[in-house]
Amino acid sequence: MANSAAAAASAAATKSIIHVAGYSSCGFYRRATSVVASLSLLFPNKLQLVEHEFASRDAYRDWLIHETKFRDVVGASSSAGSSSKQGNLRATSHSSSPFCWLGSSAECTVDEVTEFIGGCDDTLDWCRKFVEPAKSSTSEILAQMIPDGHSPSHNYDYDLLILGGGSGGLAASKEAASLGAKVAVLDYVKPSPAGSKWGLGGTCVNVGCIPKKLMHNAALLSEGHKLDHPHYGIGVPPELEEKWMGISQDNEHGHHSWETLKSNVQNHIRSLNFKYRVDLREKEVTYLNLLGSFLDAHTIETVDKKGTKGTVTFSRCIIAVGGRPTPITCPGGELAISSDDIFSLDHDPGKVLCVGASYISLECAGFLHGIGKDVTVAVRSILLRGFDRECADMIGDHMKSMGVKFREEVVPTLLEKSGDRIKVTFSNGESDEYDTVLGAIGRTGDTVKLGLPNVGIVTNPSNAKIPAKYEQTSTPNIYVIGDVMEGCPELTPVAIHAGKMLARRLFGGSMQPMDYRNVCTTVFTPLEYGTVGYSEDDAIAEFGAENLDVYHKYFVPLEWSISPSRSYHQGFCKAIVDKHTNKVLGLHYLGPNAGEVMQGFGTAMKLGCTFKDITETVGIHPTTAEEITTLSITKESGASAAAGGC
Ligand code: FAD
Ligand code: NDP
Repeated sequence: MANSAAAAASAAATKSIIHVAGYSSCGFYRRATSVVASLSLLFPNKLQLVEHEFASRDAYRDWLIHETKFRDVVGASSSAGSSSKQGNLRATSHSSSPFCWLGSSAECTVDEVTEFIGGCDDTLDWCRKFVEPAKSSTSEILAQMIPDGHSPSHNYDYDLLILGGGSGGLAASKEAASLGAKVAVLDYVKPSPAGSKWGLGGTCVNVGCIPKKLMHNAALLSEGHKLDHPHYGIGVPPELEEKWMGISQDNEHGHHSWETLKSNVQNHIRSLNFKYRVDLREKEVTYLNLLGSFLDAHTIETVDKKGTKGTVTFSRCIIAVGGRPTPITCPGGELAISSDDIFSLDHDPGKVLCVGASYISLECAGFLHGIGKDVTVAVRSILLRGFDRECADMIGDHMKSMGVKFREEVVPTLLEKSGDRIKVTFSNGESDEYDTVLGAIGRTGDTVKLGLPNVGIVTNPSNAKIPAKYEQTSTPNIYVIGDVMEGCPELTPVAIHAGKMLARRLFGGSMQPMDYRNVCTTVFTPLEYGTVGYSEDDAIAEFGAENLDVYHKYFVPLEWSISPSRSYHQGFCKAIVDKHTNKVLGLHYLGPNAGEVMQGFGTAMKLGCTFKDITETVGIHPTTAEEITTLSITKESGASAAAGGC
């Protein structure tokens, strides 16, 4: 009962009125009432018990079946009002004693009910949460949202309309529907300038994380095939070589079939598109394959693919339209493709120029090189701005040593057709020809044609993103989540989590805000990089070098150690620690499976772990993650940071 838990946490700050109904001889009813009664004695200003005691089981059952009209709305309420399509299913199907809920008064009418708690065990859980000390500073902070005028008796088509069926929009829609709201998701893909289109699910599944990770995996497999397999005694019989992972001997760009990889990736994506549609149907979310824009704060104008217009009305709206690649604007920029096109490219990309030097450019450069392409990266200033500099530089060195070319401190100034190729002139006057130019110079909020002026929402002119507080925009019944929200890290799990938490606040009585701090992330470059918390540079700027201990270590992952061809490959990890409190401020890891390694450390960071907590954790041997638990050399000591044996 996540909502009850959240409500219990927030209840500790305001007075909660907890209703317990049951029959007098029921042991569970007596247990629940006695625990709540004891707590209300201890915290009279924070908790009040209202007992609804029935003389017999039959009398209680009769009341439960015939008198509890409010059960239809319990659990589907919010701080700003309540409404529901069908109420909380657990509340409507509850048949045992006791039946417990939260109310805004001692009355038990529809308007006074705020949240269904459950039976005896749920009530005891609620009480535990009520007395539990807050674990982190954010759990003490409540999302104080502005009342948005939502009422159970509205006449709009939907309680909640979500604009955009990507990571955030889908998560929010399903959560809100499970809390009883009547929800529709509008999702429509505008083709990229190069004409690429895709299905339901947004950037992550169609043109982002999923195809990227699969293509990164292709590169890792190919790398293992070239660098490791011979040393592990693995050989591919020549007659099978062509069947192996699309490996083809006659491909001029190397031993790889782009067509096989692209087709298999696209087939997988189509299966996910289908799964998302089924999922929405099962969760009773209406999916509308329509392009939406605001007419006013309760009306969206819709357009289908034939150009037919319509309108949909809503009480509340969440904008979750994400972003699109920022186009290259120099003359001829339209000849470049973007991440919207690369994963479905109908021909082998050939010799590629990746413009930009952050996540997308370096990840694409990495996997394209890994599958045998001739790849150059055009770097305007530095690699991976905002990340730990030492780690970013190691990624660059690793890519260079593998054969990726870098053109430093240049931007393209002219792109022109040159036969089948594209001639690129750079800002330093040099030029070269490529089969494909991939622009990855950032992403812009997809808000230009959303009709935001019609609802009084003003975007940040530099990135077209929407400012918000607790995901609520300047127009109170219009909310925003994910990539299109100003200041939101552009990451799928962030959009998903923010969407779920907002839905719980809107329809589940929660007041818990989304915590955007200490979000782990991984850059899937050939040398993978997992990180959480401060970079060393940012920690120094904020706390001062004299207040920090920086532990570091270089290591050779065991799986690479018997492959002489990997002599230049090494892993690295680093912990940035507050000298006075021993609290870990940042963790960085370069090596295999960086995402898997970092995920659990992210939980530790969220719980405010100290460096001692990490080094007192018994490692798992032999893994690369254990290198973090054995960090002991500080930079300040000047001792060698190279790892020893076991
Ligand atoms: P989106 O997923 O972009 O969804 C928005 C949806 O709204 C789209 O379907 C769009 O068509 C639709 N839409 C837009 N306007 C309208 C309208 N007017 N009417 C109807 N529908 C509309 N993140 C990670 O965490 N890990 C990764 O490894 C990772 N890799 C990435 C790789 C690449 C190449 C890219 C581009 C991104 C990657 N990301 C990654 C980022 C991640 O994909 C995004 O953070 C995430 O998809 C954002 O979700 P969202 O719900 O905000 O928006
Ligand atoms: P970023 O905004 O992170 O980086 C943009 C890059 O393009 C920078 O290197 C920037 O250089 C460069 N650039 C900007 N403008 C120009 C220009 N006019 N000419 C040449 N270069 C330019 O964008 P990305 O597209 O790489 O990624 C967008 C977001 O997607 C990321 O922030 C990330 O959150 C998400 N993502 C996540 C992934 C993951 O989790 N693994 C993978 C891929 C994307 P400079 O430093 O000089 O400004």
